Amino acid sequence: MSEGASRRGFFRDLGKAVASTRDALAPDAQPEPPAPPPPYGGLSDAEVERYARQLVLPEWGAAAQAALSEADVLVVGAGALAAPVASYLVGAGVGRLGILDPDVVEVSNLHRQTLHFTPDLGVPKAESAAAKLRFLNPDVVVEPYQVRLEEDNAAALIEGQDVVVDCSDSFATRYAVNAACCAARVRLVEAGVLGLQGMVMSIKPGRTACYRCAFPAAPVDAPSCADAGVLGPAAGVVGSLQALEAMKLLTGVAPALTDGFLQVDLASAGFLRVHASRRADCPDCGKL
Ligand SMILES: [Zn+2]
Repeated sequence: MSEGASRRGFFRDLGKAVASTRDALAPDAQPEPPAPPPPYGGLSDAEVERYARQLVLPEWGAAAQAALSEADVLVVGAGALAAPVASYLVGAGVGRLGILDPDVVEVSNLHRQTLHFTPDLGVPKAESAAAKLRFLNPDVVVEPYQVRLEEDNAAALIEGQDVVVDCSDSFATRYAVNAACCAARVRLVEAGVLGLQGMVMSIKPGRTACYRCAFPAAPVDAPSCADAGVLGPAAGVVGSLQALEAMKLLTGVAPALTDGFLQVDLASAGFLRVHASRRADCPDCGKL
C-alpha cells in the first residue's frame, strides 16, 4: 500500500468518526426509548395464555386479574346454582374457592347440577364438585366442606371470606348466610331459582340493602325445588348472573346489582330490576 492510499484511508475513517459524533450531539438526537413494560406485568406466560380472552377486555386487564387471584370466595351449596358459579370463578382464576354442601350426589340432581356426573352417585357433592374444579384450573385452591351451614356455624365458615355466594336452596340457610355476612361485613351474592323464575341480588353489608331488607320474612308455604321442579338452563342462567356479580364485587369491573334485585322470568325472557332500600329496623343490618 502506498503512503497516499494509507493517508486517504485515515482521513476517510476520521471523517466517519466526526460525522457520527456530530449526529450523536445533534439537538434532536434522542436515546433509544426503553422497552415497554410487559402488558400484563406480574403474570406468568402460562397465566397470560390461560386468561387471554378476559385479559384483553378493556374493562378487565391485569388489575382485575390480580384482584381476583387474591380473593377468597365461599360458595354455599354445590348444586345447580353453584355449578356455573364455581366453574366460572375457578376458570377465571379466583385465588381460593371453598365449596360446602352436606349432601351426596343423587340421580335426580344430574339434569341440572352440571359439576356432577353419573359415576359420582353417592359421592359427597362438595368432593365431587371440587374434583372437577381442580381439573378445570389446577392453579386455584379448591377446598370442599361436607357440612350444612347453619346459624351456629355460619360465622366461623364465613370468617375471612372476601365474597360469599349463596347457592343454597332453603330460606333458612339464606337468612342464616345473610345474617352472618352482615355481622362480619362480608359481601354477599344471593340468588334463588324455581321453575322458570329466579332472582339475583348483591349485598354490601352496611352500605346497601341486605337480603332481609328486601325480603323481611320467608314466604309462607313456599314450594320446594322437589315439589315445584326446575329446568336446568333456568338454574344455569341465574347461576351465571350470580358468578358475574361475584366477579364485579371482587374486581370493580362493573357496578354490582345492589340496593335491589333482578327478577328473572325465563318463561317470557323478562328481566326486571326491583329496587329495595336499607331498613333502619332490619335485624341483620339495621345497626351497621
Ligand atoms: Zn338489612
